Amino acid sequence: MIIATNLKTNFTRKHTKEYVLSIQKFLQSNPTTNEIIVFPTPTALDNFNTDIIIGAQNAYPTVNGAFTGETGTQQLDEFNIKTILIGHSERRHILHESQELIAQKFQYFKNLGYKIVFCIGEPKEIREKGKANMMKYIHTQLQGVDLQYENLILAYEPVWAIGSGHLPSNEEIADLHLELRVTCKAPLLYGGSVKVNNIKEVISLPNVDGVLVGSGALNVNDFCSMTRYSTQN
Ligand code: PEP
Repeated sequence: MIIATNLKTNFTRKHTKEYVLSIQKFLQSNPTTNEIIVFPTPTALDNFNTDIIIGAQNAYPTVNGAFTGETGTQQLDEFNIKTILIGHSERRHILHESQELIAQKFQYFKNLGYKIVFCIGEPKEIREKGKANMMKYIHTQLQGVDLQYENLILAYEPVWAIGSGHLPSNEEIADLHLELRVTCKAPLLYGGSVKVNNIKEVISLPNVDGVLVGSGALNVNDFCSMTRYSTQN
């Protein structure tokens, strides 16, 4: 299982360090075979000296240069970051990142061998138009993405489920993951309102290989508890 958290624009550098160290300490006494990934806010990236995988929530497809406000691989290399989140719904819908730029980022970081957690997911109005429309929408979000890429992890995160407390039904999650599985052999994460009290149910669904958690992981004790879940629990 892959248990990942996107900390978004939360926590200071100091708080993030404490957060990562708390997980590290927890895992020392509660070892797991799960893969644990943390995506801290960009200014909190650091060399954490940990087995936890630390990833970037975003970066620009460049080494360095004149890209005000962006982060390139020169900055990521300083902290040995080789994992990146691409296509998150907040970057698509709030920051208006185009599919073209998202695909460009995918290609760039793929060429560098990064582990890429690539996010897809439909807004509510698309879901309401029925499954065929929903699948069509999701496939457009995958344009320019090599689904055979060996370091790809796909995260299905319905936009309306993010931070809302509303998840699709178990059947809906299983159905969508089955659709994705047909064309993609990469691990499939579910994301959107996963909490410590529903993770067990979510990860027990077929073709769910892990979770991407936002708000439900802000409490470090909750996230530590989540690292313990596997299909065996
Ligand atoms: C996310 O934004 O990736 C996410 C899963 O958020 P939340 O867990 O808060 O719904």
